[in-house]
Amino acid sequence: MNNEIECDVLVIGSGAGGMVSAIRAHDLGLRPILVEKSDRFGGTSAVSGGGIWIPMNKDFKDDSEEAAMAYLRACTKGEVPDRKLLAYVHNGKRLVELLEGWSVGYSAVPGYPDYCPWLPGAAAGGRTMMPHAFDARKLGDQLFRMREPHPTHKVFGRMQVGLEEMGPLIKRWPGWWRTAAKMVIRYWTDFPFRMKSSRDRRVTTGNAMIAALRKAMMDREIPLRLKTALESFVEEGGRVVGAVVVERGNRYTVRARRGVIVATGGFEKNQGLRDQYMPKPTPTDYSLTPGVNNVGDALKAGAKIGAATEFLDQAWWVPTMRVPAPGFNNADMRAALFMERSYPHTMCVNRNGDRFCDEAISYNDFGAAMLDDDRKTGANAPCWMIFDATARNRYPIGTLLPSAFWPDWRLPREWDDNVYYKANTIEALARKIDVDPTRLAASVRRINGFAETGKDEDFDRGGNSYDTFFGDPRNQPNPCLGAIEKPPFYAVQIDIGDIGTKGGLKTDENGNVLRTNGVPIEGLYATGNVAGAMTYDSYPGAGATLGPAMAFGMLAAEHIADRTTNRGVS
Ligand code: FAD
Repeated sequence: MNNEIECDVLVIGSGAGGMVSAIRAHDLGLRPILVEKSDRFGGTSAVSGGGIWIPMNKDFKDDSEEAAMAYLRACTKGEVPDRKLLAYVHNGKRLVELLEGWSVGYSAVPGYPDYCPWLPGAAAGGRTMMPHAFDARKLGDQLFRMREPHPTHKVFGRMQVGLEEMGPLIKRWPGWWRTAAKMVIRYWTDFPFRMKSSRDRRVTTGNAMIAALRKAMMDREIPLRLKTALESFVEEGGRVVGAVVVERGNRYTVRARRGVIVATGGFEKNQGLRDQYMPKPTPTDYSLTPGVNNVGDALKAGAKIGAATEFLDQAWWVPTMRVPAPGFNNADMRAALFMERSYPHTMCVNRNGDRFCDEAISYNDFGAAMLDDDRKTGANAPCWMIFDATARNRYPIGTLLPSAFWPDWRLPREWDDNVYYKANTIEALARKIDVDPTRLAASVRRINGFAETGKDEDFDRGGNSYDTFFGDPRNQPNPCLGAIEKPPFYAVQIDIGDIGTKGGLKTDENGNVLRTNGVPIEGLYATGNVAGAMTYDSYPGAGATLGPAMAFGMLAAEHIADRTTNRGVS
């Protein structure tokens, strides 16, 4: 093989940020090449919900720059410069317009509130947008090169669930069974595709977004080299002019005349870096991200040439429960507890048996609360979710489907007193999970009192629009609070997991990587989780990881075009 190839822009990593960078570079008249370490494209972006958080988007006319900036400033606590926040607020809506032009459809989810509704400038809905479903026949055989959705995003391990199905199915709205029946019929009557594969060709969520981006790349004939990994950057005269990559064992240089954009994800699959930086290190398989490739290659390569880093102790925290799943990536799988903490008849306690926060806050804030409580008590991370037979009957808890359809006797035997614990009294349950029975019983009595009045006097659970969005509206006076009183009682261990790390190479408002002295490294750009998060330790709203990953990918390509050609941004 030739030991040198050339392009204008080398993009590394095929998640959302990488693909947007490559397409934008192409449309500005540059010749990009995209390289990907895995034999599948799409990264974590493909297994994600695909949501993007975009202030002032086309569907949310009541938003304003002032409100969005006030909110982002409050979320980021002075750790992120205004010019970077402004770049996002100004350009997010333009990203959505570009995506639409590339046939990557997005619409805002009505009423999906920002994750910190108590902060100034928060929106009660409208900033989170979800991708439209995509017919993956348009990808031809490339469909089988795309990462599959997370198993918990599929019904019966096969059918992909779109936004329109999620609400009715998860909350069992009236007519939910019609939604379920339609999905099953559509899937099984798709005879041509059933003859070919068990994979659903109606792709949704992150798969829909990545499939549509891949189609836009195919239409433009942008080369995608799978099994090709970044090893190091090539620097000449203080400028990054390419990278050394290894493709199926062959090492060669890709010279990039205009610039290099890295979009290689976080370092969540690198145990050494987790141990070094995480406040309470957990094993790599506590991360819900797929595969084994996000190990911080570009972070290390950047540090070698003097790049600054930031926020390395932060991740997009997610409370998770363990599910034994032989045959999936590992022997165990993690299910995220995204919404279940809002359901009535549930509560979370540390290992002393005490509640420690409003359980219904966002998954990122709940993870941070676990860490905070652990610093104070030494008895958290892991902690416990406690619920009663009413919650078990009505709501899905991780992979425990409501017992109305999936009673305990249908669950695998080995899950009993392992994945979930069960007892006829709170005290007996406490003894099973090694929590002080007296304190757990006291915590249950106290929350039961709050359930009656509808007011959580300790943590105000259900007192804001984000909490109640996922609560049960049929449960009054507070959709998030219900007495834990009907035996048997259950416990599920909550471990602190993540959907990626958020510390990385420090970048400016153009996505340009900075040196430790704050000066941009010419020719080197970063976006997505390989870069320090624009949101610092916060999670402003659903889609606040993919939105910035794509927007700064777009801005990086535009900055490269602007500086190195006479075209500028069109
Ligand atoms: P990735 O998408 O992981 O892409 C990085 C790519 O780089 C990978 O394909 C990897 O193989 C490749 N790579 C790594 N090293 C190298 C190398 N040395 N050389 C070449 N290639 C390399 N976020 C949202 O905003 N909205 C959501 O709805 C949402 N839902 C989620 C649901 C789940 C279940 C999960 C797990 C995550 C979710 N997230 C969501 C988080 C979001 O998916 C990630 O933060 C985002 O995908 C990160 O994008 P990225 O481009 O940085 O990394």
